Amino acid sequence: MYPLLRFNKQQILENTQKIVAGAAGHNISITGITKCSGGNYEIAETILEGGAAALGDSRIQNLKTLQDLDCDKWLIRMPMLTEIEETVRFATLSLNSELKTVAALNEAAERQHKNHDILLMVDLGDLREGYFFEEEFVKDLREILKLKHITVRGIGSNLSCTGAIVPTVETYEKFFDFQQLMKRDFDLDCQITSGGASSTYFMLKDDTIPSCINNLRIGEMILLGTDTSNNLKYDTLHQDNFILDVEIIEIKEKPSMPIGKIGCDAYGNRPVFVDKGIRRRAICALGKQDTTMEDLTPLDKHIEMIASSSDHLILDITDCDQNYHVGDIVSFRCNYASALHASTSEYIRKAAF
Ligand SMILES: *Cc1c(COP(=O)(O)O)cnc(C)c1O
Repeated sequence: MYPLLRFNKQQILENTQKIVAGAAGHNISITGITKCSGGNYEIAETILEGGAAALGDSRIQNLKTLQDLDCDKWLIRMPMLTEIEETVRFATLSLNSELKTVAALNEAAERQHKNHDILLMVDLGDLREGYFFEEEFVKDLREILKLKHITVRGIGSNLSCTGAIVPTVETYEKFFDFQQLMKRDFDLDCQITSGGASSTYFMLKDDTIPSCINNLRIGEMILLGTDTSNNLKYDTLHQDNFILDVEIIEIKEKPSMPIGKIGCDAYGNRPVFVDKGIRRRAICALGKQDTTMEDLTPLDKHIEMIASSSDHLILDITDCDQNYHVGDIVSFRCNYASALHASTSEYIRKAAF
């Protein structure tokens, strides 16, 4: 059955080991983020084997899939009020920024006779989640510390997302300020100071990583060997860990220019074509509802991607050395975006090898 998304376990293991070893030199632990692989069990296991201190995912469903793995599991998107019971059941720790939510977690933890750990998120300027103002943080923390089934393990911050803010030494001054504030006002030491994601890792290599960070939540670098936010490809890491195999369902010689008056496609876009005369075209059974086409790279360098619709991907195979036939499989390398989408498509079979 195709499409098939193949994960390379050995390469993901090696990536994890290198990243964990690099961080250990700076006393930084790595939480392996599995969301890009749709919470795949074998990948999660591989990341743990590679030395990650904990696993994290943005979706509680994925953490539920991983429930048999004996490790700390973080819910890295703030819990919805409608998923509080599951959060306490399937996550050992969650990232939070709302008193109301933390109070609900406390009640659920009491019902389940458990403790639930949290990190409080601090917004360093990227303007996604977290406390921006110290007064609001202090006010909520005062209430949170009264909750009997909640343990504040520390703070976290997230960058390179909404505002695409690049982590710098200056960016993290605010992170340190919040840690000092907790010590000064509450005599609270942060066990975990989770400073960021793959986009912060380059600071380890540059040796500029602030000492107020002792944890990073790493997904993209482990799974894909890249850091898209900073446009970095790590030479020491494997990048071809997610390969998407798709099947050819039609091969025909056709003109490269459509015939007739050009309007808009099903997505409201007006396509542009180059007249190259008659070309050999293959249609593959893969579409926009499976993944983002522009984020796939054919392993056969002579293939040109022409167009795609909801369920069809059209390739120009005229210049290929290989003689493709209907029923043959064409393989593509995924980047972060296409891996994320393909991993969560129900129509795509997944296999780790
Ligand atoms: C996705 C995510 C991460 C991991 O980011 P990568 O770029 O894949 O390393 C870390 N923290 C949070 C809150 C996230 O949403």
